Amino acid sequence: MYKLVFLLALCCSITDVKAAISALRLSGEIKQGGLVLGKTQPNSQVMLDGKTLPVSKTGDFVFGFSRDDEKSHQLEIILPSGQKISKPLHPKKRQYKIQRIEGIAKKIMNPNPEAIARSKKDNQQVKKARQKNTPLTAFAQGFIPPSKGRITGVYGSQRVFNGVPKRPHFGLDYAGKTGTPIVAPADGIVSLFVPDMFYSGGTLIIDHGQGISSSFLHLSKSYVKMGDKVKKGEKIAEIGTTGRVTGPHLDWRVNWFDVRLDPALALKAKPIE
Ligand SMILES: [Zn+2]
Repeated sequence: MYKLVFLLALCCSITDVKAAISALRLSGEIKQGGLVLGKTQPNSQVMLDGKTLPVSKTGDFVFGFSRDDEKSHQLEIILPSGQKISKPLHPKKRQYKIQRIEGIAKKIMNPNPEAIARSKKDNQQVKKARQKNTPLTAFAQGFIPPSKGRITGVYGSQRVFNGVPKRPHFGLDYAGKTGTPIVAPADGIVSLFVPDMFYSGGTLIIDHGQGISSSFLHLSKSYVKMGDKVKKGEKIAEIGTTGRVTGPHLDWRVNWFDVRLDPALALKAKPIE
């Protein structure tokens, strides 16, 4: 259970302390790749490192930390009463799975210019979908695994070929046969579906609000299309082997805007009552 109750307020009476307790609650791990759910009083202002975060009518907000975040952060809340709460956050460092491969002649892949142009276009579409900042509060209900498959790949892992680090893996991979159903990990609205992206194949993105999105890669099929509302647990797609993959699996990713979060940590952020 990672429901953390935080309180740090410069207040001088017991009543202030009591008020401050309900004024800021956080759930999730303060850790590299972590997704953090927050709740404060409605009509409060929330800032992270001086930047204003969206806050829902019910006081819900969310943020997260990147894979290699080593900074100290400052969360500040200004309550409707004018009272200020300040909470320093130091994401815990993690050890990622690093696989060193030495002395192997690397097969040089030269994608043709057409493929390069296509993957550029794919990236722009994905980026645009992940930039969405909508007032949905679906993220606040917490996440369930989108698949029951065995986990075959984790967030943050990286291969180093002959001393050259490759791009880290940012998804949580679930094994499954082509056609295995995938469910929505939380409510949301479909913000992108493209059946044939160059690297990621059938690619579906669901917007959960305030910049939190889920991406599902290598799909053989989607049951939903752009603009559709989906419910947590609803079948949305099927596992496939599309794009550049060696076998059928689901690669699930969670983003806070362009910050790539660890889906396994998103699953641990329990909703705040
Ligand atoms: Zn993957």
